Amino acid sequence: MNAPHPTHSSVADAAALAPAHIRAIAPYRAGRPISEVARDYGLNEASIVKLASNENPLGMPESARKAMIAAATDLGRYPDPNGFDLKAALSKRFGVPSDWLTLGNGSNDILELAAHALLHPGLSAVYSQYSFQVYELATQATGARAIVTPALNLGHDLPAMRAAIAADTRIVFIANPNNPTGTFLPPEQIEAFLASVPSHVVVVLDEAYNEYLEPAKRFEAVEWVRRFPNLVLSRTFSKAYGLAGLRVGYSVAQPAMTDLMNRVRQPFNVNSIAQAAAVASLADVEFLERSRVLNAQGLALMQQAFDELGLTYVKSSGNFVLVKVGDAAAVNEKLLRAGVIVRPVGNYGLPEWLRISVGLPEENQVFLAALRAALGRT
Ligand SMILES: *Cc1c(COP(=O)(O)O)cnc(C)c1O
Repeated sequence: MNAPHPTHSSVADAAALAPAHIRAIAPYRAGRPISEVARDYGLNEASIVKLASNENPLGMPESARKAMIAAATDLGRYPDPNGFDLKAALSKRFGVPSDWLTLGNGSNDILELAAHALLHPGLSAVYSQYSFQVYELATQATGARAIVTPALNLGHDLPAMRAAIAADTRIVFIANPNNPTGTFLPPEQIEAFLASVPSHVVVVLDEAYNEYLEPAKRFEAVEWVRRFPNLVLSRTFSKAYGLAGLRVGYSVAQPAMTDLMNRVRQPFNVNSIAQAAAVASLADVEFLERSRVLNAQGLALMQQAFDELGLTYVKSSGNFVLVKVGDAAAVNEKLLRAGVIVRPVGNYGLPEWLRISVGLPEENQVFLAALRAALGRT
């Protein structure tokens, strides 16, 4: 008569129900939100400078705000599951048919779709030490084995990654530019790698920071997608396009691979407001260029300041820079007290380094002043 109700102890035991590969996952460590730091350190939110999550310091483009407001008039209906307008805009931009495009709830979703489509226990994925943590998370969630290759100068060692590919490998993840280190692989190296990869392996090329590259360094990787049926190109609206809070990313891949990812996708993975904002943001070339130039100037300023302080840093191709400060946990604590949030990267195995996102000019100055003070170098 009395069905057994879960008790406290049986709920706590729920963890034991999960497979070992799920229990082994270390949750993603995001940059600390402004509201949380304000609470913990007794600071005014408005006085806090957050340079911790590689967000666009200009915020979202005005064009996207207008498109969102227009799209917000009726949210009683489901979003377009096929993202017709956004795919049409991307299709035009890249000169590929819409069945080469997959939309994601952020490009994080794209990375997971590729992993879910291709990996399962008994298979493996290859990625580099010090590359984006989501590659590890997406791989672990499928129960596949991770093959982590040692970094070369804090970046990807492509020959080592090629050599690490096993018979059971199905995915190689590459970030270019890489996060959290900011390193950049020249197009010739990636192209040679793609040509050398066996056909049982899909390469996921994550170009979240592509739009920040100086024009001379840029190569349109969509051209590789035409040549390589085993390439998935991943891009995002979260960084240079200024829409991190909306969660929109996309991939470009040939139809067979795109079809596979579509099978494991939630039907309504990108909401209506995000789709509308992404269309507007994609068209806003002025905002994109302003973002790129502001970033280049801020990065140059920070790297010059690090030179003056005698700090080692990795020359960055992204919208952030990795700098070696010694006891990074202690320096981070001092920065937090001064109301500056940056990203410690101890979880990446870099306990002496901090990753700083480039902010507005005044935010960069606040950070540099706080850093000098934290290092006793005022
Ligand atoms: C920020 C980032 C992403 C994208 O994140 P989304 O907001 O989910 O699009 C993807 N890859 C790398 C390397 C990143 O740094």
